Amino acid sequence: MNAVQAFHRRSIQDRDQFWREQATAIHWHVPFSTVVDESKLPFAKWFVGGQTNLCFNAVDRWLDSRGDQAALIWVSTEVDQEQTYTYRQLYQEVNAVAAMLKAQGVGQGDRVLIYMPMVPEAVFAMLACARLGAIHSVVFGGFASVNLAQRIDDAQPKVIVCADAGARGGKVTPYKPLLDKAISLCTAPPEKVIVVDRGLFAFEPVAGRDLEYASLRKQFDGVEIPAVWLDSSAPSYVLYTSGTTGKPKGVQRDVGGYAVALASSIKHIFNGKPGDTFLCTSDIGWVVGHSYIVYGPLIGGQTTILYEGTPVRPDGGILWSLVERFKVDTMFSAPTAIRVLKKQDPGLLKKYDLSSLRALYMAGEPLDEPTAQWISEGLGKPIIDNYWQTETGWPILAGQPGIENVPTKFGSPSFPVYGFDVRVIDEQTGEDLGPNQKGVVAIVPPLPPGAMTTIWGDDARFVETYFSSIPGRQVYSTFDWGLVDEEDYWFILGRTDDVINVAGHRLGTREIEESINSHSAVAESAVVGIADQLKGQVAVGFAVLKDPSVLDAAGATQKLEAEIMKVVDEQLGPVARPARVRFVTTLPKTRSGKVLRRAIVAVCEGRDPGDLTTIEDPTALEQIKDSL
Ligand code: ATP
Ligand code: MG
Repeated sequence: MNAVQAFHRRSIQDRDQFWREQATAIHWHVPFSTVVDESKLPFAKWFVGGQTNLCFNAVDRWLDSRGDQAALIWVSTEVDQEQTYTYRQLYQEVNAVAAMLKAQGVGQGDRVLIYMPMVPEAVFAMLACARLGAIHSVVFGGFASVNLAQRIDDAQPKVIVCADAGARGGKVTPYKPLLDKAISLCTAPPEKVIVVDRGLFAFEPVAGRDLEYASLRKQFDGVEIPAVWLDSSAPSYVLYTSGTTGKPKGVQRDVGGYAVALASSIKHIFNGKPGDTFLCTSDIGWVVGHSYIVYGPLIGGQTTILYEGTPVRPDGGILWSLVERFKVDTMFSAPTAIRVLKKQDPGLLKKYDLSSLRALYMAGEPLDEPTAQWISEGLGKPIIDNYWQTETGWPILAGQPGIENVPTKFGSPSFPVYGFDVRVIDEQTGEDLGPNQKGVVAIVPPLPPGAMTTIWGDDARFVETYFSSIPGRQVYSTFDWGLVDEEDYWFILGRTDDVINVAGHRLGTREIEESINSHSAVAESAVVGIADQLKGQVAVGFAVLKDPSVLDAAGATQKLEAEIMKVVDEQLGPVARPARVRFVTTLPKTRSGKVLRRAIVAVCEGRDPGDLTTIEDPTALEQIKDSL
């Protein structure tokens, strides 16, 4: 057993003592008396009796020792601006925003919805809510009115903080007009809207409702608002899941458990220490952004970089140039971003001094082996795949170099993270499975500190959605397939609803995709099961090529399709061979970079793809249609 596994074992077998030690990593205003209350499982309360505050831990706690250290560095390649805030300056900004929210009547337990691009004011607003004990709900800036209206009605915020506009790839996208439209669709409109006017899009205030951030900021300059001490299990925020598989769920999180989980993860998973610089390329609208742009690095006394821009502008070297300039220690990105870079000049990986960088962490979707290999060789750094969900708030499976540097295996997020009593379970019998047996990845409750505590406003849906799908056992289902190999490395094999049935064979679309991706011409692919009269379903693949011009030669398309089919034949056997492989230049994905398989299937079967409000690029679906 390696040290990572031993650490994990202790967290389960000697749980209370283990978490008592981890909990010393944060400041408690009132110490807790009970480590975990599990009298009402699957609901669990961590650090009962304790009082603390996320904002205090992220900001105030560092004022004495690190007041002049950069806390937040904002870089925007969209508007060509940069701004650094020291911990002291961050403290001032957050206090001013807390004061302006308080003046609008926001107090403990009130919801504040944040609909913002990647600007510092978004971070101030999150921390200001945490300071007041108000519950923030950050909605990804790329979402349009319908998504936004759904979330407003569910969270019922008193105040919404937004910006006039964001920009992506050099193109301005108005936010405020989308918000106005969303509010007109809502049954529970907010009392006030605070607008950060970036001067990107004409700001037309609604009288009596809209307030302008900069003038409020002046009004509350220098005002200090003490952090409100909150029960450890008080709600800190609500964040909606991406909606890849259905209606988004309002994931609710606590205060104390989340602070402890993040503080300990910075140390054990990210091998970090105060003073480090963390670059996370996610968005504050996603869970990775909440945990590892905002709260984690700041609770860890680090410098966090907030990047507004794409990975390819001004060129594909931008992220590496940030690593060089700011001496980034830890970087966190997503496979989708790296696949975008794969289509760029590989020389860009060698152009910058990356000596400060310890490792690149990746999460959000399966990290296929070719992509992992490409980036690992290109950077010459460890690639640490970590697997988690909005629901869990921090990684379930990960390499944990802060505990021990155990070699990684491509395609595997290594080992269970301490606190997660995670199993691979047979979905028919509910029994634990042995090595190399594929089953559902499930977690035995209590979920660890930092994980979701319930679905906002719907305890029954929490139990029903997550804890009721495995027969005879009340365990949390991740709805992902997984297996553990003979050396105890874990593998995620796709979502439980991504399995297709071809002539009686159950096939994971993920495995077929991996196989297609292993062809050297392919950058990425999506495989779906399409209804077939003869076989029940057949697999159809859509591949994006690294260099689409290879198809220009006469007959090249048919030749490449045949080659790819042969690869699948050899690796997985003819039953897995896709009936067709089509070439497209982009795949239909959610705004968080996840392939919208449901929509592809619908289009392939000639049905209406349904709700497409989370799609990144609607033309991607047209390409799918045209390619058939
Ligand atoms: P919804 O639950 O609303 O359908 P979603 O599941 O896409 O949306 P997220 O919580 O953002 O919302 O995504 C979590 C899912 O992403 C996991 O359940 C898993 O399927 C996938 N995932 C995340 N990280 C990894 C990883 N390292 N390897 C494989 N899959 C991953
Ligand atoms: Mg999910």
